[in-house]
Amino acid sequence: MKAILIERQGPVEGAGLKPEELPTPFPRSGEILLKISACGVCHTDLHIVEGDLPLVKTPVVPGHQIVGMVEGIGKPGPSADPRDSGDRPVAIGDRVGVPWLSSTCGKCHYCLTDRQNLCDSIRFTGYHIDGGYAEYVSVPAESAYRIPETFTDIMAAPLLCAGIVGYRAVKLSGIGSGMRLGMVGFGASAHVNIQVARYLGADVYVFSRDTDHRKHAGDLGAVWTGTLEMVPPHLLDAVISFAPAGGIVPRMLELLLKGGRLVLAGVFVSPIAAFEYPLLYHERSISSVANSTRADATEFLELAGKIPVTTEVTVFGLDEAGKALGALKRSGLRGAAVLVP
Ligand SMILES: [Zn+2]
Ligand SMILES: [Zn+2]
Repeated sequence: MKAILIERQGPVEGAGLKPEELPTPFPRSGEILLKISACGVCHTDLHIVEGDLPLVKTPVVPGHQIVGMVEGIGKPGPSADPRDSGDRPVAIGDRVGVPWLSSTCGKCHYCLTDRQNLCDSIRFTGYHIDGGYAEYVSVPAESAYRIPETFTDIMAAPLLCAGIVGYRAVKLSGIGSGMRLGMVGFGASAHVNIQVARYLGADVYVFSRDTDHRKHAGDLGAVWTGTLEMVPPHLLDAVISFAPAGGIVPRMLELLLKGGRLVLAGVFVSPIAAFEYPLLYHERSISSVANSTRADATEFLELAGKIPVTTEVTVFGLDEAGKALGALKRSGLRGAAVLVP
Protein backbone atom coordinates (compact mmCIF):
# COMPACT_ATOMS: atom_id res chain seq x y z
CA MET A 1 0.00 0.00 0.00
CA LYS A 2 0.98 3.63 -0.39
CA ALA A 3 1.65 5.65 2.78
CA ILE A 4 3.30 8.88 3.88
CA LEU A 5 6.10 8.31 6.41
CA ILE A 6 7.70 10.82 8.76
CA GLU A 7 11.29 9.78 9.41
CA ARG A 8 12.89 13.09 10.32
CA GLN A 9 11.29 16.26 11.63
CA GLY A 10 11.74 19.67 10.06
CA PRO A 11 9.96 22.48 8.19
CA VAL A 12 7.16 20.99 6.09
CA GLU A 13 8.41 22.82 2.99
CA GLY A 14 11.54 20.66 2.98
CA ALA A 15 10.07 17.51 4.46
CA GLY A 16 9.69 15.78 1.10
CA LEU A 17 6.50 14.03 2.15
CA LYS A 18 6.04 11.55 -0.68
CA PRO A 19 4.11 8.26 -0.59
CA GLU A 20 6.19 5.15 -0.09
CA GLU A 21 5.29 1.53 -0.67
CA LEU A 22 4.67 -0.33 2.61
CA PRO A 23 3.22 -3.76 3.43
CA THR A 24 -0.53 -3.59 4.08
CA PRO A 25 -0.95 -3.89 7.87
CA PHE A 26 -2.46 -6.97 9.44
CA PRO A 27 -5.09 -6.58 12.17
CA ARG A 28 -3.84 -8.08 15.43
CA SER A 29 -5.98 -9.10 18.39
CA GLY A 30 -8.53 -6.39 19.14
CA GLU A 31 -7.74 -4.48 15.95
CA ILE A 32 -9.64 -3.78 12.76
CA LEU A 33 -8.19 -3.25 9.31
CA LEU A 34 -9.65 -0.29 7.44
CA LYS A 35 -9.51 0.54 3.77
CA ILE A 36 -9.17 4.31 4.01
CA SER A 37 -11.41 6.53 1.91
CA ALA A 38 -10.50 9.90 3.46
CA CYS A 39 -8.22 11.31 6.13
CA GLY A 40 -8.46 14.85 7.46
CA VAL A 41 -5.33 16.97 7.85
CA CYS A 42 -4.97 18.45 11.35
CA HIS A 43 -2.72 21.16 12.78
CA THR A 44 -1.33 18.48 15.13
CA ASP A 45 0.03 16.65 12.06
CA LEU A 46 1.95 19.82 11.21
CA HIS A 47 3.34 19.97 14.78
CA ILE A 48 4.46 16.32 14.42
CA VAL A 49 6.07 16.90 11.01
CA GLU A 50 7.86 20.08 12.12
CA GLY A 51 9.05 18.83 15.52
CA ASP A 52 6.89 20.88 17.91
CA LEU A 53 5.88 17.47 19.29
CA PRO A 54 8.60 14.81 19.68
CA LEU A 55 8.41 11.66 17.56
CA VAL A 56 7.55 8.68 19.78
CA LYS A 57 7.46 6.15 16.92
CA THR A 58 9.94 6.38 14.05
CA PRO A 59 9.05 6.29 11.27
CA VAL A 60 5.37 7.00 11.68
CA VAL A 61 2.44 7.40 9.31
CA PRO A 62 0.56 10.52 10.52
CA GLY A 63 -3.17 11.16 10.25
CA HIS A 64 -5.92 10.85 12.84
CA GLN A 65 -9.16 11.85 11.15
CA ILE A 66 -9.67 8.59 9.33
CA VAL A 67 -12.79 7.47 7.51
CA GLY A 68 -12.70 3.94 6.19
CA MET A 69 -14.44 0.66 5.65
CA VAL A 70 -13.76 -2.37 7.83
CA GLU A 71 -11.99 -4.97 5.67
CA GLY A 72 -10.57 -7.20 8.37
CA ILE A 73 -11.03 -7.99 12.03
CA GLY A 74 -8.24 -9.32 14.26
CA LYS A 75 -8.82 -12.22 16.60
CA PRO A 76 -11.17 -10.79 19.26
CA GLY A 77 -9.39 -9.27 22.22
CA PRO A 78 -10.83 -7.64 25.31
CA SER A 79 -10.89 -3.86 25.33
CA ALA A 80 -8.38 -2.54 27.84
CA ASP A 81 -10.98 -0.25 29.31
CA PRO A 82 -13.50 -2.13 31.53
CA ARG A 83 -15.93 0.78 31.09
CA ASP A 84 -15.83 0.44 27.34
CA SER A 85 -19.17 -1.07 26.39
CA GLY A 86 -17.67 -2.20 23.10
CA ASP A 87 -20.85 -0.96 21.47
CA ARG A 88 -19.17 0.19 18.31
CA PRO A 89 -19.36 -1.20 14.78
CA VAL A 90 -16.75 -3.77 13.91
CA ALA A 91 -18.49 -5.80 11.23
CA ILE A 92 -16.84 -6.26 7.84
CA GLY A 93 -18.14 -3.61 5.45
CA ASP A 94 -19.04 -1.06 8.13
CA ARG A 95 -18.01 2.54 7.67
CA VAL A 96 -16.23 3.94 10.73
CA GLY A 97 -14.29 7.00 11.78
CA VAL A 98 -11.08 6.95 13.84
CA PRO A 99 -9.98 10.00 15.86
CA TRP A 100 -6.79 11.04 17.72
CA LEU A 101 -7.63 9.07 20.89
CA SER A 102 -6.55 5.53 20.13
CA SER A 103 -6.28 3.49 23.32
CA THR A 104 -6.20 4.02 27.06
CA CYS A 105 -5.19 1.78 29.99
CA GLY A 106 -8.59 1.56 31.67
CA LYS A 107 -6.90 1.30 35.07
CA CYS A 108 -5.41 4.67 35.99
CA HIS A 109 -7.07 7.36 38.11
CA TYR A 110 -8.19 9.25 35.01
CA CYS A 111 -9.63 6.26 33.15
CA LEU A 112 -11.55 5.20 36.26
CA THR A 113 -13.13 8.66 36.47
CA ASP A 114 -14.21 8.80 32.79
CA ARG A 115 -11.38 11.12 31.78
CA GLN A 116 -9.63 8.89 29.25
CA ASN A 117 -8.32 12.05 27.59
CA LEU A 118 -5.88 12.40 30.52
CA CYS A 119 -4.90 8.68 30.78
CA ASP A 120 -1.33 8.13 31.98
CA SER A 121 -0.78 5.55 29.23
CA ILE A 122 -2.78 7.22 26.48
CA ARG A 123 -1.93 6.37 22.87
CA PHE A 124 -2.79 8.40 19.80
CA THR A 125 -3.61 7.52 16.22
CA GLY A 126 -0.95 8.70 13.77
CA TYR A 127 1.50 9.24 16.62
CA HIS A 128 2.00 6.15 18.82
CA ILE A 129 0.62 3.93 16.05
CA ASP A 130 0.49 4.47 12.29
CA GLY A 131 -2.38 6.63 11.11
CA GLY A 132 -4.40 7.53 8.07
CA TYR A 133 -2.07 9.14 5.52
CA ALA A 134 -2.20 5.78 3.76
CA GLU A 135 -4.41 3.38 1.83
CA TYR A 136 -4.93 1.03 4.79
CA VAL A 137 -4.58 1.20 8.56
CA SER A 138 -5.01 -1.24 11.41
CA VAL A 139 -6.37 0.34 14.61
CA PRO A 140 -7.78 -0.84 17.94
CA ALA A 141 -11.49 -1.60 17.43
CA GLU A 142 -12.22 0.53 20.52
CA SER A 143 -10.99 3.62 18.65
CA ALA A 144 -13.60 3.35 15.87
CA TYR A 145 -16.92 5.19 15.88
CA ARG A 146 -19.99 5.07 13.71
CA ILE A 147 -20.44 8.16 11.51
CA PRO A 148 -23.95 9.56 10.87
CA GLU A 149 -25.14 8.61 7.41
CA THR A 150 -25.81 12.23 6.44
CA PHE A 151 -22.07 12.75 5.89
CA THR A 152 -20.08 11.59 2.89
CA ASP A 153 -16.65 10.11 3.70
CA ILE A 154 -14.85 13.30 2.66
CA MET A 155 -17.23 15.61 4.53
CA ALA A 156 -17.00 13.43 7.66
CA ALA A 157 -13.19 13.42 7.93
CA PRO A 158 -12.82 16.87 9.60
CA LEU A 159 -15.39 15.90 12.22
CA LEU A 160 -12.99 13.39 13.75
CA CYS A 161 -10.50 15.78 15.33
CA ALA A 162 -11.30 19.36 14.33
CA GLY A 163 -14.87 18.48 15.23
CA ILE A 164 -14.47 16.34 18.35
CA VAL A 165 -11.63 18.23 20.08
CA GLY A 166 -13.23 21.57 19.17
CA TYR A 167 -16.46 20.28 20.69
CA ARG A 168 -14.59 19.53 23.90
CA ALA A 169 -13.34 23.15 23.83
CA VAL A 170 -16.93 24.38 23.42
CA LYS A 171 -17.98 22.24 26.41
CA LEU A 172 -15.09 23.56 28.54
CA SER A 173 -16.02 27.13 27.59
CA GLY A 174 -19.29 26.64 29.47
CA ILE A 175 -21.28 28.65 26.94
CA GLY A 176 -24.98 28.18 26.46
CA SER A 177 -28.08 29.98 25.31
CA GLY A 178 -27.85 33.78 25.36
CA MET A 179 -24.11 33.80 26.02
CA ARG A 180 -21.34 35.34 23.95
CA LEU A 181 -18.46 33.21 22.70
CA GLY A 182 -15.31 34.47 20.99
CA MET A 183 -13.33 32.26 18.62
CA VAL A 184 -9.76 33.26 17.79
CA GLY A 185 -8.55 31.73 14.52
CA PHE A 186 -11.04 30.34 12.03
CA GLY A 187 -9.80 27.11 10.50
CA ALA A 188 -11.14 23.58 10.39
CA SER A 189 -12.13 23.31 14.06
CA ALA A 190 -13.79 26.72 14.35
CA HIS A 191 -15.77 26.33 11.13
CA VAL A 192 -17.35 23.16 12.52
CA ASN A 193 -17.82 24.30 16.09
CA ILE A 194 -19.29 27.73 15.35
CA GLN A 195 -22.25 25.66 14.17
CA VAL A 196 -22.37 23.77 17.47
CA ALA A 197 -22.10 26.98 19.52
CA ARG A 198 -24.91 28.60 17.54
CA TYR A 199 -27.02 25.46 17.93
CA LEU A 200 -26.50 25.79 21.70
CA GLY A 201 -27.86 29.34 21.47
CA ALA A 202 -24.64 31.36 21.78
CA ASP A 203 -23.71 34.47 19.80
CA VAL A 204 -20.30 33.94 18.24
CA TYR A 205 -17.63 36.62 17.73
CA VAL A 206 -14.76 35.62 15.43
CA PHE A 207 -11.25 37.08 15.45
CA SER A 208 -8.98 36.37 12.50
CA ARG A 209 -6.30 38.22 10.56
CA ASP A 210 -7.44 36.52 7.38
CA THR A 211 -10.20 38.32 5.45
CA ASP A 212 -11.36 35.09 3.77
CA HIS A 213 -11.67 33.40 7.15
CA ARG A 214 -13.68 36.35 8.53
CA LYS A 215 -15.95 36.16 5.51
CA HIS A 216 -16.38 32.41 6.06
CA ALA A 217 -17.26 33.05 9.73
CA GLY A 218 -19.86 35.61 8.68
CA ASP A 219 -21.35 33.12 6.21
CA LEU A 220 -21.68 30.63 9.10
CA GLY A 221 -23.52 33.09 11.31
CA ALA A 222 -20.91 34.94 13.38
CA VAL A 223 -22.59 38.06 14.82
CA TRP A 224 -19.32 39.99 14.61
CA THR A 225 -15.96 39.42 12.92
CA GLY A 226 -12.74 41.38 13.21
CA THR A 227 -9.12 41.18 14.28
CA LEU A 228 -7.71 40.98 17.80
CA GLU A 229 -6.59 44.61 17.46
CA MET A 230 -10.24 45.62 17.10
CA VAL A 231 -12.67 46.13 19.99
CA PRO A 232 -15.85 44.05 19.74
CA PRO A 233 -19.12 45.70 20.83
CA HIS A 234 -19.44 43.49 23.93
CA LEU A 235 -17.26 41.69 26.43
CA LEU A 236 -17.55 37.91 26.11
CA ASP A 237 -18.50 35.02 28.41
CA ALA A 238 -15.82 32.81 26.91
CA VAL A 239 -13.09 32.80 24.28
CA ILE A 240 -11.72 29.71 22.55
CA SER A 241 -8.30 30.16 20.99
CA PHE A 242 -7.48 27.90 18.07
CA ALA A 243 -4.21 29.77 17.50
CA PRO A 244 -0.94 28.22 18.76
CA ALA A 245 0.20 31.66 19.96
CA GLY A 246 0.83 32.30 23.67
CA GLY A 247 1.64 35.96 23.04
CA ILE A 248 -2.05 36.82 22.54
CA VAL A 249 -3.24 35.33 25.85
CA PRO A 250 -3.30 38.72 27.67
CA ARG A 251 -5.28 40.30 24.80
CA MET A 252 -7.79 37.45 24.89
CA LEU A 253 -8.22 37.86 28.68
CA GLU A 254 -9.07 41.53 28.05
CA LEU A 255 -12.07 40.38 26.01
CA LEU A 256 -13.65 38.47 28.91
CA LEU A 257 -16.47 39.43 31.23
CA LYS A 258 -16.06 38.70 34.95
CA GLY A 259 -16.13 34.93 35.44
CA GLY A 260 -15.20 34.47 31.79
CA ARG A 261 -13.25 31.48 30.54
CA LEU A 262 -10.35 31.40 28.12
CA VAL A 263 -9.94 27.97 26.52
CA LEU A 264 -6.72 27.18 24.64
CA ALA A 265 -7.64 24.48 22.13
CA GLY A 266 -4.16 23.78 20.73
CA VAL A 267 -1.98 20.76 21.50
CA PHE A 268 0.95 23.18 21.25
CA VAL A 269 1.07 26.85 22.26
CA SER A 270 4.17 29.09 22.18
CA PRO A 271 5.28 30.72 25.48
CA ILE A 272 2.51 32.71 27.14
CA ALA A 273 3.18 36.42 27.55
CA ALA A 274 3.25 37.77 31.13
CA PHE A 275 0.25 39.77 32.32
CA GLU A 276 -0.95 41.59 35.43
CA TYR A 277 -3.21 39.74 37.88
CA PRO A 278 -6.25 42.04 37.40
CA LEU A 279 -6.72 40.50 33.93
CA LEU A 280 -7.37 37.15 35.63
CA TYR A 281 -9.07 38.42 38.79
CA HIS A 282 -12.89 38.32 39.12
CA GLU A 283 -12.81 34.58 38.59
CA ARG A 284 -11.68 34.58 35.01
CA SER A 285 -9.93 31.30 34.17
CA ILE A 286 -7.67 29.77 31.56
CA SER A 287 -7.94 26.13 30.55
CA SER A 288 -6.16 23.99 28.00
CA VAL A 289 -7.91 21.23 26.05
CA ALA A 290 -6.26 17.83 26.03
CA ASN A 291 -7.49 15.31 23.47
CA SER A 292 -11.04 14.06 23.98
CA THR A 293 -12.92 11.42 25.90
CA ARG A 294 -14.89 8.59 24.30
CA ALA A 295 -18.06 10.36 25.40
CA ASP A 296 -16.95 13.54 23.58
CA ALA A 297 -16.62 11.54 20.37
CA THR A 298 -19.99 9.80 20.56
CA GLU A 299 -21.84 12.92 21.75
CA PHE A 300 -20.29 15.13 19.11
CA LEU A 301 -20.84 12.78 16.16
CA GLU A 302 -24.47 12.32 17.15
CA LEU A 303 -24.93 16.08 17.55
CA ALA A 304 -23.18 16.81 14.24
CA GLY A 305 -25.68 14.57 12.45
CA LYS A 306 -28.60 16.15 14.27
CA ILE A 307 -27.71 19.83 13.70
CA PRO A 308 -26.65 18.92 10.90
CA VAL A 309 -23.15 20.37 10.73
CA THR A 310 -21.80 21.21 7.29
CA THR A 311 -18.09 20.93 6.59
CA GLU A 312 -16.15 22.69 3.90
CA VAL A 313 -13.17 20.78 2.60
CA THR A 314 -10.35 21.03 0.09
CA VAL A 315 -9.40 17.61 -1.25
CA PHE A 316 -5.77 16.59 -1.84
CA GLY A 317 -4.27 13.33 -3.10
CA LEU A 318 -1.98 11.32 -0.84
CA ASP A 319 1.02 12.57 -2.83
CA GLU A 320 -0.06 16.14 -2.03
CA ALA A 321 0.17 15.73 1.78
CA GLY A 322 3.04 18.22 1.97
CA LYS A 323 1.08 20.73 -0.10
CA ALA A 324 -1.97 20.33 2.17
CA LEU A 325 0.11 20.81 5.35
CA GLY A 326 1.82 23.84 3.78
CA ALA A 327 -1.55 25.41 2.98
CA LEU A 328 -2.65 24.74 6.58
CA LYS A 329 0.54 26.38 7.89
CA ARG A 330 -0.13 29.51 5.84
CA SER A 331 -3.84 29.55 6.84
CA GLY A 332 -4.49 29.29 3.13
CA LEU A 333 -7.52 27.02 3.39
CA ARG A 334 -11.21 27.68 3.76
CA GLY A 335 -12.42 24.98 6.15
CA ALA A 336 -10.45 21.74 6.29
CA ALA A 337 -7.97 19.80 4.14
CA VAL A 338 -8.74 16.15 3.45
CA LEU A 339 -6.46 13.56 1.84
CA VAL A 340 -8.05 10.98 -0.41
CA PRO A 341 -5.82 8.01 -1.21
ZN1 LIG B 1 -5.64 5.23 31.93
ZN1 LIG C 1 -6.11 16.62 15.39
